[in-house]
Formats: sequence, structure tokens, C-alpha cells
Amino acid sequence: MMSGIRKPGKSTSRNWWGYLVAIGSVILATWLKYLAQPAIIPADVPILYILAIVPTAIFFGSGPSILACILSLLAYDFFFIPPLYAFISFEDIRNAPVIVIFLLVGVSLSYLASNLRQKNIEAVREVAARKQAEAELEEHRHNLEGLVKQRTTELEKVNLDLEQEITERRQLQSQLEEMATHDHLTGLPNRILLLDRFQLAAALAHRNKARLAVMLLDLDKFKSINDTLGHDIGDRVLKATGARLIEVTRASDTLARIGGDEFILVMQEANQRADATAIAQKLLDSFIEPFSIDSHQLHLSTSIGIAIYPDDAKDIETLIKKSDAAMYYSKDRGRNQFKFFGDGDVAFAE
Ligand code: GH3
Ligand code: MG
Repeated sequence: MMSGIRKPGKSTSRNWWGYLVAIGSVILATWLKYLAQPAIIPADVPILYILAIVPTAIFFGSGPSILACILSLLAYDFFFIPPLYAFISFEDIRNAPVIVIFLLVGVSLSYLASNLRQKNIEAVREVAARKQAEAELEEHRHNLEGLVKQRTTELEKVNLDLEQEITERRQLQSQLEEMATHDHLTGLPNRILLLDRFQLAAALAHRNKARLAVMLLDLDKFKSINDTLGHDIGDRVLKATGARLIEVTRASDTLARIGGDEFILVMQEANQRADATAIAQKLLDSFIEPFSIDSHQLHLSTSIGIAIYPDDAKDIETLIKKSDAAMYYSKDRGRNQFKFFGDGDVAFAE
């Protein structure tokens, strides 16, 4: 049955060749086992052994040694015992010490290779896992950065919108306040603000035992400007009048337009009659220069009535009424002049 197979025990030189091939096989098998990682050698390691060792065993070995070779291949795959059995035959039993040495060396190398391989696999796995973790971390960081950037941009936009809205609201609020407290045509304080300012001025005058003068001005024959030149020109005259009057008014005093062609000045420190007289005269003089509106040179004047706090009254409403009565007295006396309440036969009808 085994007639075609040569027996290694019959030739000493062939035995030595057999041992050399066995050593080579052990080294090759150990090396292959070491490299046997799915990533490096996808093929089954036993197949490689078979390809490398079985022909050698057939060529050099005997019947039992071929069987031993095949069994040892299987054993190698499970227990890492190298295929040295391939060369054990009944004739080679006398070479047992040498074979045992080969066996021990092979087992040691195999064990070493197996350990190295395991470590290598673990290291490769660890590196791969670390790389993957790093990549995931990087991706997360990248995503997070993008998210933070996006949120920052959104927040900046919301912030800008809010700032803009706050500014608009503030502007609207100040516009509303301005509208509520100022005359839209001349920009002067209106009656509401005048009352407020009077309260403050009166409180101060009361503390300092000082006097205030409330002067009411009404333009003379203003209606005729409206009638002859139109309402627009009339408006511009009113604006120009407000600008002129404010020029001769002290910063501490309040000039207001209370409607139509009527203005009121609340003057502080009007302790002597002469103090109020001086300002009233300045107000009259501010009309000497004609008003240039478009191509028109308009000559205007005003009549003024003056009431004194606290002598004539302590509240603004009565003071306005009394200054109004005095203003009408000025009109009656020929306009373009001022009168104090109580001058001549000026009386205030309660
Ligand atoms: P007097 O000397 O007696 O005061 O004569 P006058 O023409 O000035 O008469 P009065 O003061 O009674 O009339 C004021 C006029 O002012 C009446 C109205 O047509 C006009 N007027 C009131 N408000 C405005 C305004 O906002 N713009 C303009 N253009 N005219 C106004
Ligand atoms: Mg008038």
C-alpha cells in the first residue's frame, strides 16, 4: 500500500534533509501563525501548512508519519503544536531525543508566536479602537463646533434684532413723549408740559420767597395772514415766532405755545416789576424785524398780559386767566404792548 513512499530511515542524508525541512516547516509555520491575522492573511492557516508540509512529508516520510502529519496539522490549529510528528516513524524512534528537542523548540516558538500574535492583534485592535474613538471624538467636536457656531450666529442675530427693537421702542417712546408734551408745529412745550414746569418753578419760588411772572402773548391781527397768504404761510409765521421768542427767553424760563397764536412764558425771579417789564419789552422788540417768509416781508406784533405769582394767584389756571385779561387790555389799548393784571381798570371776572 505504501510502496511508492520512501522511508526516511533508510538514508541518513535523507533523514538530515527531513530534519532541515522539518525545522524550516516549524519556522514557516510559526511565522505564518504569527502573521495569521484576518487583516494580513485571510486564508486558513492549516491550508498553508498542508501546502507547505504535506508534500514534504509524503516525499520524505512514511505511512504513519503522513497520518501523524495530518493529525498534527489539526493539533497545530487547536493547540499550536507544530507538525513535527510528520517525521516520526517507527524507524525514526531512535532519533527520539532530537525529535523531542525539535518538539520543545517548536512548542516554545509556537507559544511565543501565539503570544506575540495575540498581543499584536490586541495592539492592532487597540490602535484601531483608539483611531475610531479619536475619529468619533473629532467628528463630535466638529459637530459641536458647528452647532456652537450656528447657535452663536443665531444668538447674535436675536441680540441684534432685540437691540434694534429696543432702540425703535425707545425712539417711539421718546417720540410719544415729545408729542404728548410738545407743540408739533413750533416744537415748544405745550400746555401739559407748561403746567408741569410751572409746578416746579412755583415750588422753587415758594421756597425762595420769590415771584414768578406768567406772560401771555397773542399775535396781533394774525388771522389776516392766514386769510391773505394762506394757512401754510400762517404756520410758518407761527414757527418763526416761536424761534424768535425762544431767543430772548432765558434757559431757566419756560416758553410754551398753548394754541392758536397764543404763547405763554413762565419767568422765574420776577421779584421786581422791572424784571418782568424788561423781559416783556424784549419780547415785544423781537417783532421789530419783519418776518421773511418766501418773498413776503411780514410785519407782526404781539400783545402781552402779565400776572404775578403769588401776588395775583398761586395756581396756573387763575394766573393764565388773569394774564389773558391783561393781554386783552393791551389789545384794547392799541396792541403791541404789555400790561400787568391790575393795570388801569383791568379786572378779572371770577
Ligand atoms: P387779534 O389781534 O385780536 O388777536 O387778532 P387775530 O387775527 O390774531 O385774532 P385771533 O387771535 O383771535 O385769531 C387767531 C387765529 O389764529 C385764528 C386761527 O385762524 C388762527 N390759527 C389758530 N391756530 C392756527 C394754526 O395752527 N395755524 C395757523 N396758520 N393759524 C392758526
Ligand atoms: Mg391773535
